[in-house]
Amino acid sequence: MDRLEAYAKENNIPIMQKEGILFLQDYIKKHNVKKILEIGAAIGYSAIQMALVDDKIKIVTIEKDQARYHEALKNIQEFNVQKQINVILGDALDINVDGQFDLIFIDAAKAQYIKFFEKYKHNLNPKGVIITDNLSFHGLTENYEHIKSKNLRALVRKINNYKEFLINNQEFVTKILNIGDGIAVSRKKL
Ligand code: SAH
Ligand code: MG
Repeated sequence: MDRLEAYAKENNIPIMQKEGILFLQDYIKKHNVKKILEIGAAIGYSAIQMALVDDKIKIVTIEKDQARYHEALKNIQEFNVQKQINVILGDALDINVDGQFDLIFIDAAKAQYIKFFEKYKHNLNPKGVIITDNLSFHGLTENYEHIKSKNLRALVRKINNYKEFLINNQEFVTKILNIGDGIAVSRKKL
């Protein structure tokens, strides 16, 4: 794991923070999560961490970057969890995934969060949750006015739109937690 964390740091790959990983692992245990869909595999770090919780856990994870996809396959072999994790190379907005999941973890392009949510909510078990990472985006979403870069401001605006979308959602209730880089936990209203 240390090697993966170091590799991610060196190559500027935004893997999930430790605190967020611990939250996910704890959530998976407590709620007996067995089927997971992840949007944004990168090098497989978070998928491996989730798979290691229990060998009955099955994960489908999507990655659009070819180099990262190959790196993920390699790392998954190394941790011997290839029977548990199926990595799909492709853009999550183009492909379709079959099946229902207990947990959908959104951790890909932040500007597309609403689209991922709307598309993949159909793959959620009625009692499942959608967890989204990076809602705080290094604290930037709370300090919006101070951002100088136009591009960055546009991105932060999109994350804030996503938060609004979750808060005002008719179908889902969401808790936004100040864990790691900000995590949203959304479940279907009964
Ligand atoms: N979940 C990983 C980190 C993911 S980083 C971990 O914590 O270990 C986000 C990844 O999402 C990047 O590798 C990026 O290439 C990928 N990504 C971004 N938009 C995507 C899309 N539309 N479809 C699939 N992958 C996407
Ligand atoms: Mg993230």
